[in-house]
Amino acid sequence: MVSCLVTNASLTHRGAVLLGKHVACDAFDECKPLRVVSHAHADHMVGLKQSLATCEKVLMTKATKDLIDVLRGPSLLMKGIVETMDYGKTIQHEDERLTFFKADHILGASQVLVEDSEGKRIVFTGDFKIDGTPVLDADVLVMEATYGSPRCTRSFETNPENLLISLIEKGLKDGPVNVFGYHGKLQEIMQIVYDAGVRAPLLMSERIFHVSKVCESHGMRLGSLFLTDEREAEEILQRNSSCIVFHHMNSRGSLADDGFRIYVSGWEFNSPCREISDKEYVVALSDHSDFDGLTEYVRRSKPKLVITDNYRVGHAETFAKQVYTRFGISAVALPKR
Ligand SMILES: [Zn+2]
Repeated sequence: MVSCLVTNASLTHRGAVLLGKHVACDAFDECKPLRVVSHAHADHMVGLKQSLATCEKVLMTKATKDLIDVLRGPSLLMKGIVETMDYGKTIQHEDERLTFFKADHILGASQVLVEDSEGKRIVFTGDFKIDGTPVLDADVLVMEATYGSPRCTRSFETNPENLLISLIEKGLKDGPVNVFGYHGKLQEIMQIVYDAGVRAPLLMSERIFHVSKVCESHGMRLGSLFLTDEREAEEILQRNSSCIVFHHMNSRGSLADDGFRIYVSGWEFNSPCREISDKEYVVALSDHSDFDGLTEYVRRSKPKLVITDNYRVGHAETFAKQVYTRFGISAVALPKR
């Protein structure tokens, strides 16, 4: 392992990913004039209020801005100067250039490239799934390491999406199917269901509904959406008719009825679908790369130094060791614990 002291990238104890001289991603840092929000998950919006109050600019994609407006209320982002970035568009700040690239994670998610005055390429992947994410050449690569342990591989023979559809179809024969997941993932599931030709009504709380509407406005096709407290939705539930009810994962303990339930989680590695009971299943669908996806990114990006995100949940220290062992590339997990 090498020390990371002489570098143009770092990760602070408050979770800020520092790139070059001017940029702090995903948490507040008082020294950096530009704040980036890589995507609209809570652990990447750390200290956003402070950034809005003090930074020169806060940068994010238009989709991320729209999601934050519905998740946090429209007044939050009015408290500072927010500039929306298209993928591939470069802005110059003094002697450095900053460009966003797509990350396949939730709607609007970005990777961030900073090119310094010497042409060094400093890349932050944000959260990503390798399949739909362009791999960027990097000199310094800062990356997520959620599934950074070799134990976290999902090499299933059966596609979890197909299993999810089969389970939903099975549950719909007897009435409502409850699906639990996080914002972004829930909408991805709605799209998978729609693309598979399943046309049951989709019921959801107000917050999930608004996030879904943002996803639709950015081109996702989700199907027929209903608020659970609308009369039509109440009637569907009273009749025990076929429908899919979407819930935030955090509400899994508070649902009273004992109907058909599917939990969607990335933390499943042994099988694409685990049966808890005859009406309760966990399906292994993730919007993060597994261990093989993370190593694949490093291999193709060819960095000279890798910094793994040790602030957010995951296996940053293990992954840094793996990068050094497998590729001989210097790697460090930051912040140090
Ligand atoms: Zn995320």
